[in-house]
Amino acid sequence: GGHDGEYDVLVLGAGPGGYSAAFRAADLGQKVVLIERYATLGGVCLNVGCIPSKALLHNAAVIDEVKHLAANGIKYSEPEIDIDALRGYKDKVIGKLTGGLSGMAKARKVDIVRGVGRFIDPYHVEVELTTGAEGQTKTGEKKTLKFKHAIIAAGSRVMKLPFIPEDPRIVDSTGALQLKAVPKKMLVIGGGIIGLEMGTVYSTLGARLDVVEMMDGLMQGADRDLVKVWQKMNAHRFDNIMLKTKTVAVEAKADGIYVSFEGEAAPKEPQRYDLVLVAAGRAPNGKLIGAENAGVAVTERGFIEVDKQQRTNVPHIFAIGDIVGQPMLAHKAVHEGHVAAENASGHKAYFDARVIPGVAYTDPEVAWVGMTEDEAKKQGLKIEKGVFPWAASGRAIANGRDEGFTKLIFDAETHRIIGGAIVGTHAGDMLGEICLAIEMGADAVDIGKTIHAHPTLGESIGMAAEIAHGSCTDVP
Ligand code: FAD
Repeated sequence: GGHDGEYDVLVLGAGPGGYSAAFRAADLGQKVVLIERYATLGGVCLNVGCIPSKALLHNAAVIDEVKHLAANGIKYSEPEIDIDALRGYKDKVIGKLTGGLSGMAKARKVDIVRGVGRFIDPYHVEVELTTGAEGQTKTGEKKTLKFKHAIIAAGSRVMKLPFIPEDPRIVDSTGALQLKAVPKKMLVIGGGIIGLEMGTVYSTLGARLDVVEMMDGLMQGADRDLVKVWQKMNAHRFDNIMLKTKTVAVEAKADGIYVSFEGEAAPKEPQRYDLVLVAAGRAPNGKLIGAENAGVAVTERGFIEVDKQQRTNVPHIFAIGDIVGQPMLAHKAVHEGHVAAENASGHKAYFDARVIPGVAYTDPEVAWVGMTEDEAKKQGLKIEKGVFPWAASGRAIANGRDEGFTKLIFDAETHRIIGGAIVGTHAGDMLGEICLAIEMGADAVDIGKTIHAHPTLGESIGMAAEIAHGSCTDVP
């Protein structure tokens, strides 16, 4: 049929997965089109996720750090917070990055079509052109694009809870990042990373926090010993941490949002809040892209299943990022994007990462990768662990932040590292060494005998390996 352009590779969605795939395919000589409904490239991560949250968390961490200095004889007065300027800083950070992406797309001659795309058959996507920052306005114009290969990178969206009314005092992570005002009393629904990161920002800016979580602990996925350290350092932010508790009703009244709970830690009466952040998870966009017209299978929940080459059940259509499943993280999307693009460009590539790291950019940071101790126990695996408490780290003590620790998990038989975790300042930045060690099959001796610079926090990784090594009887 008629079309407005024919491409080797069509990429649907310009988040970290989509732009990485588009750029890689272009670098491999393909004619590429990238479809995105938002005004800027970068998807959730750059516009309303990873990057703006970290821009705000950085400022919050500096404010908190300065408070720690009081104990060292350096006292500052209370910070004056110009919330409009702070929001401006965050927007400038986003602008630098999304602008950089546009330049990179141009340099690679990747065509960008702004609009909402949906498959109309296995070789065509129809795009309803949009304007407005979030693509909210449809121009009424349509384009049909023909492709040889397609890469679906349409990501995920905030999961809505059915019983929650529309009210400006009830926000999701996107609304929270808009940073309109600092409430006195804030409820975070969902004790995962996103909720706790945004809670940290608002609390440092002056809000009192409550958090409600259905599971029996905050930051699910991380070992409890790490979370305990974070929780002790952050207890001052919270009035009430409600675990094994459900939010059952939310009512918007003139003087606040009233929330009722059910469960182990539920208060009897509805509680009043100035701001409620709903951070109860994200849902994949698989059902919103006309996948059925292309014959691409979508699960009940909206995920698209793929093989190790990122291929869907339709061999010339690939899928990557949040839309293919957990963990919903930007660095996973980027690597999957590269694999899909290479396969779509006639190469042979596989997603075969041993491990995918996870980091909570709270203060202190909580970072983990591979096998956790709790998981090893559950599976009955024989492990050796090496734990180095930062109370014995010269650098951590000099920094006045020695609450953390570094933990490495080894296979008891091979002594190879299979997991690791760090709680403490800069934990996320340090985690990469543990990821590399796991990917390379390093054992406790490899890591322990690697000379780390002194005095650094990273030394704690070498020390933890030495400790585990000492407990091995027959290291080769
Ligand atoms: P997305 O980033 O979701 O991008 C999909 C894009 O597709 C969007 O731009 C969307 O507009 C577009 N799109 C969808 N459907 C269509 C269509 N039909 N037509 C046209 N365009 C379409 N991850 C981390 O690794 N580290 C972090 O620190 C981190 N922090 C986060 C903080 C917050 C508050 C949130 C919400 C998420 C965070 N994440 C973080 C998760 C991270 O943002 C996602 O894992 C990542 O963005 C997924 O990338 P993606 O390419 O799969 O899709």
